[in-house]
Amino acid sequence: MFGRRQGGVASSGYDESWYYATARGMVRHPSLTESLDVDVCVVGAGYTGLSAAIELAERGFTVALLEGHRVGAGASGRNGGVLGMGQRKDQDDLESMLGMPAAQQMWQIACDANQLVRDRVARFNIDCDLTDGELHVAHKSRYVSAMWRYTEHLAQHYGYTDQRNIDRDEVAAIMGVDTYYGGVLDKQAGHLHPLNLALGLGRAAAELGVQIFEQSVVTNIQQPAPDRVIASTAAGRVTAKFLVLACNGYLGNLNSNAGKYQMPINNFVLATAPLGAARARQINRDNVAIVDSRFVVNYFHNSPDQRLIFGGGENYSPFFPKDIKAFVRQHMLAVYPQLADVVIDYAWGGTLAITMRRMPSFGRQGRNIYWAQGYSGHGIAMANMGGKLVAEAITGQAGRFDLFANLRHIPFPGGRWLRWPGLVAGMLYYSMLDKF
Ligand SMILES: Cc1cc2nc3c(=O)[nH]c(=O)nc-3n(C[C@H](O)[C@H](O)[C@H](O)COP(=O)(O)OP(=O)(O)OC[C@H]3O[C@@H](n4cnc5c(N)ncnc54)[C@H](O)[C@@H]3O)c2cc1C
Repeated sequence: MFGRRQGGVASSGYDESWYYATARGMVRHPSLTESLDVDVCVVGAGYTGLSAAIELAERGFTVALLEGHRVGAGASGRNGGVLGMGQRKDQDDLESMLGMPAAQQMWQIACDANQLVRDRVARFNIDCDLTDGELHVAHKSRYVSAMWRYTEHLAQHYGYTDQRNIDRDEVAAIMGVDTYYGGVLDKQAGHLHPLNLALGLGRAAAELGVQIFEQSVVTNIQQPAPDRVIASTAAGRVTAKFLVLACNGYLGNLNSNAGKYQMPINNFVLATAPLGAARARQINRDNVAIVDSRFVVNYFHNSPDQRLIFGGGENYSPFFPKDIKAFVRQHMLAVYPQLADVVIDYAWGGTLAITMRRMPSFGRQGRNIYWAQGYSGHGIAMANMGGKLVAEAITGQAGRFDLFANLRHIPFPGGRWLRWPGLVAGMLYYSMLDKF
């Protein structure tokens, strides 16, 4: 079943997505063939790296951005497009983990992250189909009351009133199926075209003076002095005062300090053939992002040309399934059996990074190497914010960065691709529970 395309390699399957087929403003940047001297070298041109580069350039720093493949070729150009609200972990969990004051700060940062994306889309005039609304639906009846209590909790302790409870009948009216038992609708969350967001950020970064290099894999990093770092590629090198690692699930073995707190996993998405306006409306009346409560989550919405964009299924291996269309289609049909006759036009995979505690992993090595990563599947807003917080830390305002850097993360033993069989077994066990 496995073996066709390699997960964790940005070039692998990047051009197979509906996003790539509908990309706007894709430009080629040169690869690095010289020695450069800049203030900050950023490695990785996904949301984290692009965001850090934009923020630093705006603060007057000279920035070189080295991307191993193309801008947005990693998870940022392949994801499900769900612009979420809140952190990946619920606030009540964060309150138990960190206490109420820190949980409140985390909530505020998550709200700011959602707003940051919206502001950038508006300010840089990024055409990425941003659409409001996310419906979170329960696939087990016993989950509904907990979801509804959480809505009250957010209203009571965080003053958040943009989420409302939805009963089973209303979910069925929106989705045209009675697969789910109820849910909540969030007005601040939504969906967008992820690659076009990344390309728009790339354009904004270049206009701000960031020197972007593509096809420039960083193979070696040296810290010859506390205020000097050198990143080398096959044909060039960048000497900088600071280095930002923004590689997330594609980090590989580049830096073991950053790597030990995250694990790469692969997630998969398909795009159906256009369904036509009536059929698209039948399965998603309001064209909101829909995310279900499964451990291996299903997430979906309609595209402007009325395709169903459906994310579902993951694996914990260096390889993608051989037939990604068939792999994701089974999840799609479990939600929408009436789409059995629909042709699947595109299917693709991407690699993201998760952490044990499902909160982002930020950190430093010495005084001048920074990283932000491990958004655990919740990175459109938080990776944009991660890059901004790295820029704040580099410019001497590390308060918000340190809130994350001080989280106690549990390292993953066993190296890059889950050589720890217990953990794979754990993931498979929880994904199996989805079925009961
Ligand atoms: C299939 C899928 C669905 C997802 N769905 C959602 C969703 O709906 N909502 C949500 O919020 N999040 C989602 N996520 C997660 C989200 O996409 C990520 O959290 C986010 O894009 C991370 O951004 P990033 O910039 O940190 O990493 P990436 O976008 O992965 O970028 C890392 C970049 O670093 C580059 N790189 C790595 N090593 C090197 C090197 N040595 N030299 C040079 N360049 C290098 C890579 O080529 C890559 O371009 C999903 C992820 C996947 C894979």
